[in-house]
Amino acid sequence: MNNIFNLTKKELETYFLSIGEKSFKATQVYEWLYQKRVYDIDEFSNIKKEIRDKLKADFTTNFIKIENKQVDNLTHKYLFKLIDGEYVEAVVMMHDYGISVCVSSEVGCNMGCKFCESGRLKKVRNLQAYEIVEQILVIEKDLEKKINSVVIMGIGEPLDNYDNIIKFIEIINDAKGLQIGARHITLSTCGLIPKIYELAKLPLQINLAISFHAPTDELRSKLMPVNKVYSITPLIKAIKDYLQVTSRRVTIEYVMLNNINDSKECALKLAKLFKGMNIYVNLIPYNETNHLEFKRSSKNKIEIFYDTLKKEGINVTVRKEFGSKIDAACGQLRGRKNA
Ligand code: SAH
Repeated sequence: MNNIFNLTKKELETYFLSIGEKSFKATQVYEWLYQKRVYDIDEFSNIKKEIRDKLKADFTTNFIKIENKQVDNLTHKYLFKLIDGEYVEAVVMMHDYGISVCVSSEVGCNMGCKFCESGRLKKVRNLQAYEIVEQILVIEKDLEKKINSVVIMGIGEPLDNYDNIIKFIEIINDAKGLQIGARHITLSTCGLIPKIYELAKLPLQINLAISFHAPTDELRSKLMPVNKVYSITPLIKAIKDYLQVTSRRVTIEYVMLNNINDSKECALKLAKLFKGMNIYVNLIPYNETNHLEFKRSSKNKIEIFYDTLKKEGINVTVRKEFGSKIDAACGQLRGRKNA
């Protein structure tokens, strides 16, 4: 049976029309679920019993559960148990300007980036839209606070779970749904080119971030096997085309790996690739893990890299760090109870 949190408002409207009801009932249901936060269909008092019974027969309102929660100052990491017993994680970060959450998009990940802890567990399955929506609902209930922004940067490659991710975005962005503005939603991808083109065609004003991490195909293919299929030249072309269609600035993520991709020469090559484009580079100090041999670049090297990009006219920032003590930082999520 389908979970009700899988449905966009449009789909719920279509459902109501298909059972001979008026489509505005979808708005009423959305208001119960996402505004009043009432999940017992029997309590939907403006919907008559006969329709409530039909809804109950057609949909579940089952929730994923918090299995564990770790708190480190401004970062909270949640381990969720899904209804079939799989696990994923999500991370909440408290900023001065609001609360953001980093959600997972898959159980495991098939992209195999060499430096990433999450990819050590191969993809088990896609998350359905409701399992991502519920990460937010459950966290908001737990914190008793509203989440202001969402980054799709947890476990999984979101564009490898495209349809569910787009549904998820539509649901949380809906004016009668969670009302999270598209400009407060960021999707990060390792660069699945055909899906970047599909995304460009959608009328969604979300932010796109590309995990780039190396300025040459030789190095990028070593670090990110996906580059053997979607290499740098066509990826840059896809980013250019995306910029042209959407006019929305793209983020280029670049993880700083000691003695691997952090030389001045790498910075110069990177600058050359992106010169004149409406992008900014977000340098991510590498978060070390117990299992992988990579080390974080020194502060000094990160500074030189930063300055070199700046001098070449590239906008650049260094990602603020959250949660490395509780293995909640980028690339440290595992989604397992003990690992
Ligand atoms: N699959 C998506 C989203 C998940 S990863 C993607 O590839 O973009 C989110 C970001 O964290 C990516 O840029 C990823 O390359 C980076 N990352 C992975 N492992 C990391 C680590 N150990 N330290 C810092 N960043 C890491």
